[in-house]
Amino acid sequence: MSRVYNFSAGPAVLPEEVLSEAAAEMMDYNGTGMSVMEMSHRSQAFQEIIDTAEADLRELMNIPDNYKVLFLQGGASQQFAMIPMNLMKHGEADYIVTGQWAKKAWQEAQKYGKANKIATSEDKTFSYIPDCSDLPISENADYVYICENNTIYGTKYKELPNTKGKILVSDVSSCFLSEPVDVSKYGIIYGGVQKNIGPAGVVIVIIREDLISDDVLEGTPTMLKYKTHADAGSLYNTPPAYGIYICGKVFKWLKKQGGLEAMKERNEKKAKLLYDYLDESRLFKGTVEKKDRSLMNVPFVTGDKELDAKFVKEAKEAGLENLKGHRTVGGMRASIYNAMPYEGVESLVTFMKKFEEANL
Ligand code: PMP
Repeated sequence: MSRVYNFSAGPAVLPEEVLSEAAAEMMDYNGTGMSVMEMSHRSQAFQEIIDTAEADLRELMNIPDNYKVLFLQGGASQQFAMIPMNLMKHGEADYIVTGQWAKKAWQEAQKYGKANKIATSEDKTFSYIPDCSDLPISENADYVYICENNTIYGTKYKELPNTKGKILVSDVSSCFLSEPVDVSKYGIIYGGVQKNIGPAGVVIVIIREDLISDDVLEGTPTMLKYKTHADAGSLYNTPPAYGIYICGKVFKWLKKQGGLEAMKERNEKKAKLLYDYLDESRLFKGTVEKKDRSLMNVPFVTGDKELDAKFVKEAKEAGLENLKGHRTVGGMRASIYNAMPYEGVESLVTFMKKFEEANL
């Protein structure tokens, strides 16, 4: 067996321990004589899987009791619609547009009400996070929306915006469980799990209970109401059972690593190694304002498209996979999520140094 260092932005690298355990349990999960893939979601064995997953996530994130944890489908993109359908009681919301995903959420919300773009960093290709300390928050806004870590551009909010008392809704798809968060500062925290937590097909929504109600936009489908899923403990219909099982294993793995404080330390150490090199390199450079750099997604360029392509090709030959930047921005991007070991980043930096010497 040979494994590569996989720098994909998502679906992305998972802890080897988790993959091995899942492999060992494939034919017979815990004496049930079947795989979790083959198991009824109404069985006791699956109920234990989802209950344990939720309990471990609550412990990891220190989620207060007045928040529900929902395991849903439809990806993060489905939340772009569900959020306004469920929360826009006054028909208005404010969006801070710091990248393509925030922009898509903002555009989708326009279908359901007045979605105001109150700040953006599009003027400089989303290479920074705007000052959010005193934004023109709308009086009637039902919530303020952010994308906390911008997967494509590699920026991250280091401080949450001042929402002036309005509910904060945050897409944390690409920084989920990468560091501790204060859940009580949010109305909704959500993300697709396929970057930092598990396989594609599950989206986790952590939502304050008072935001869950039948008072939703007229015509909202049953499946797109938070209440439907909250009332049924995420088992209104068949959930993405196997995905939830893997997420549960990753939560256990995270606890074993020492929880989110320990992950933050590890992630900072990994990111520092790469950013320090980018800052001293004569060939490569980071594309993001230093103060807003993400710990998870690190974009960089040589400034020469052909050289970028050569780098991506040679890196792949050296076992460093998926370093090509997003198709809309070009260059390179190394996604260094929780499960990317320090040695993976070391290998990347060593390879970059060699490439620099050979190509300057
Ligand atoms: N938000 C962010 C920050 C993302 O990075 C992505 C996808 N990569 C999405 C939303 C969309 O996720 P999905 O494909 O699960 O709909």
